[in-house]
Amino acid sequence: MKPKIWLSSPHMSGNEQTYIKEAFDTNWVAPLGPNVNGFEKDLESYLKEDRHVAALASGTSALHLSLILLGVTNGDEVICQSKTFSASANPIVYQGATPVFIDSEAETWNICPTQLEIAIKDRISKGKKPKAVIAVHLYGMPYKVEEVNDVAKKYEIPVIEDSAESLGSHYRNQKCGTFGDISILSFNGNKIITTSGGGAMVTRSEDHKKQAVFLATQARDNAPHYQHSQIGYNYRMSNIVAGIGRGQMSILDSHVEKRRSNHELYFNSFKNIDQITFLSEPEGHFSNRWLSCILLDSLETREGLRLALEKENIESRPLWKPMHQQPIFRNSPNYLNGVSDELFDRGLCLPSGSNLSKEELDRVISAINMYFAVC
Ligand SMILES: *Cc1c(COP(=O)(O)O)cnc(C)c1O
Repeated sequence: MKPKIWLSSPHMSGNEQTYIKEAFDTNWVAPLGPNVNGFEKDLESYLKEDRHVAALASGTSALHLSLILLGVTNGDEVICQSKTFSASANPIVYQGATPVFIDSEAETWNICPTQLEIAIKDRISKGKKPKAVIAVHLYGMPYKVEEVNDVAKKYEIPVIEDSAESLGSHYRNQKCGTFGDISILSFNGNKIITTSGGGAMVTRSEDHKKQAVFLATQARDNAPHYQHSQIGYNYRMSNIVAGIGRGQMSILDSHVEKRRSNHELYFNSFKNIDQITFLSEPEGHFSNRWLSCILLDSLETREGLRLALEKENIESRPLWKPMHQQPIFRNSPNYLNGVSDELFDRGLCLPSGSNLSKEELDRVISAINMYFAVC
């Protein structure tokens, strides 16, 4: 068997262990310390726009705290892009609220501004104004930021920007992770940079950051004993994990370049195969190309190709299964136009890591060429 080629695997810079060693040497082995502060500073200088960053245990916990900061509670409704990873939607349920799922548009595969407005009007007419909108830059492709923000602003509904897959992407030269009223990042093992597991909240005010850190560290009141007037969480990032993050920040831009060059190589290699199409960047959109995705002409071709790659020990995966198709969310309201169903049937993510060698990419490309040569 040839060695496995993964979809997206961790890619260290070599600097990470310096920060971890420093943490051990100074005994900062805790969910606070110089690496946590340093990683937050690094992210703030990277994102610009005077944002504040709170380093947390995961992207999911960042989303959960965002909903809490926006006052989402039992019985509320929160709008969420349907085509996404379940972690975008689950925290809505943690709060006892109901997710309302919105379909995608075909140009970025993200939340459709037209369906969004239809949904908001309909929910308001039913007496339930949504408390927030969760929009996602899927696979690193920025959503239609202006259109989505315009609709949300018109109805005065805050936007939570799920930027878990899009660190390093930008829209009209402003970095993804700075467009929401609150934004979140993820540093899970398969993301563009990783801390093994981790996430962050990006806020517009110092006060929001302070509240997030307060809730993430068990909501301790200011007293010598342990006193609580609010329910707290254990959601802060550890100082060891943050050390990995500091090392990873030094190679973020080069990882983006490499992932974009993977995408370009696939594009050039398959442009003569009629059954394969790609998602191109609309004007003003710059994607980190976290995962390189292709659309096939049918579900049969997509599944045939996936199995052919699997035989070659090459990992590939269908695009995210929309939340409105998930058994757990079958009773949630949704506003659909068919786009995300079709993307799920016909889309496939190809190996996309920043650590893929020329030989590995060649293996993927020849396996795909072979599949279309014989079928
Ligand atoms: C990975 C991911 C998350 C969750 O981040 P974790 O750090 O794994 O909790 C949320 N939303 C999207 C779109 C993701 O891809």
